[in-house]
Amino acid sequence: MYVVAEKDIAGLMTPEAAFEAIEAVFASMARRQAYNFPVVREAIGHADALYGFKGGFDGAGLALGLKAGGYWPHNQERGLINHQSTVFLFDPDSGRVSAAVGGNLLTALRTAAASAVSIKYLAPKGAKVLGMIGAGHQSAFQMRAAARVHPFEKVIGWNPHPEMLGRLSDTAAELGLPFEAVELERLGEEADVIISITSSFGPLLMDDHVKGPTHIAAMGTDTKGKQELDPGLVARARLFTDEIAQSVSIGEYQHAVAQGLITQDRIGELGAVVTGDDAGRGDAEVTIFDGTGVGLQDLAVAAKVVELAKQKGIAQQVEV
Ligand code: NAD
Repeated sequence: MYVVAEKDIAGLMTPEAAFEAIEAVFASMARRQAYNFPVVREAIGHADALYGFKGGFDGAGLALGLKAGGYWPHNQERGLINHQSTVFLFDPDSGRVSAAVGGNLLTALRTAAASAVSIKYLAPKGAKVLGMIGAGHQSAFQMRAAARVHPFEKVIGWNPHPEMLGRLSDTAAELGLPFEAVELERLGEEADVIISITSSFGPLLMDDHVKGPTHIAAMGTDTKGKQELDPGLVARARLFTDEIAQSVSIGEYQHAVAQGLITQDRIGELGAVVTGDDAGRGDAEVTIFDGTGVGLQDLAVAAKVVELAKQKGIAQQVEV
């Protein structure tokens, strides 16, 4: 099997390669050539950790495997990052393990790529202003990936912890874009595209904040109980997601469904927009992409990184 170390991923994987891998796997999911396995996520009763697996099989890209990992809240005290994961790939013809790949940077890149795919296909025509809700680790990745697929002219941002906003202004400066910190009311009114990426357990962006044609990539909600959007806003938008089953159970749409404001048949797959089977934005004023994060995304970027590591001769080969 091949081993690609976490430290080597930054030199191998590019946001462009991540974008292509995620766009392709969303299309495979919509064509029913790829499917995700049920997610396992457990509080293990040790070190306050949450641990689990996300896996799947992509019959088009021939990627079989899983990402194992989770969240260790005390890691920072030991100089490690709190989110830890590793992707394992298997040969779909023989079942033999074929690769182990560091999953931390890949998770950030694949999550950013997902919102970027949604922006490419769903942003309102002539969108100029990008609104960022959230200023944590992921926010910089999301902003860079968004700027790569659309020529934004300005970034505005809000975060529940204002002391973290420096990350957004630094990232905008790196992209050569002006940045302004604003209240949520102004963000909803002025932004043409909004990315939310927080750990919120209650609605932040309200229905009456959002004015005019807008696309919202809701990326923070990946667990039961988390929430970033007002269910009333969800109810009036045209809805898309990576995987419908996840969006109504652990994604942003869980709340609007629970309140009886929407039913599952209102939700489309972003992959079907990529393949052209869904018209996408159409005449909708507001579109939402609920990016819940699926195992197939992890497999897609991991398979790409193994290919790149082999090409560059830096994949270590070991016998198991
Ligand atoms: P982080 O810990 O670096 O940043 C957390 C962000 O959430 C900050 O903006 C912080 O101000 C805000 N926040 C913290 N507690 C909050 C609360 N109680 N209410 C409202 N906001 C709060 O985390 P990150 O790595 O930037 O990830 C952000 C979120 O995205 C997390 O919830 C994470 O689980 C989620 N995530 C989703 C995917 C996906 O595929 N959908 C992938 C990776 C991360």
